[in-house]
Amino acid sequence: MADKTLFQKICDKEIPASMVHEDDVCVAFRDISPQAPVHILIVPRKPIPRIAAATAEDAATLGHLLLTAGEIARSEGIADTGFRVAINNGPHGGETVPHLHVHLLGGRPLQWPPG
Ligand code: AMP
Repeated sequence: MADKTLFQKICDKEIPASMVHEDDVCVAFRDISPQAPVHILIVPRKPIPRIAAATAEDAATLGHLLLTAGEIARSEGIADTGFRVAINNGPHGGETVPHLHVHLLGGRPLQWPPG
């Protein structure tokens, strides 16, 4: 069996994280190096490496991640001021952890386009 990813270890509580949400499909925790006042990672328990590796079988999981992002944005108080969800894919996308995750960023105005 392949080694667990960093985020699998966080899902399995082998590595601590500042959890804000847990359910059967995903967990969400505060980014260790926040780029905005609110910076939360929403991570499926299934170790899908990246969005380009997802399949039709993952459709419900992908939808669940986005619905959870909206739910957390409301609970963090940033739904009305606005926020961004981002998924980095591959080297040019800035992916550093090969386990799919949705960044939820907010709490300040965000620049567009990103760098
Ligand atoms: P990405 O660059 O899109 O792959 O995002 C990976 C994110 O994981 C980065 O924003 C890191 O700051 C964050 N990160 C790395 N290690 C941890 C950790 N142990 N706990 C929380 N966030 C982490």
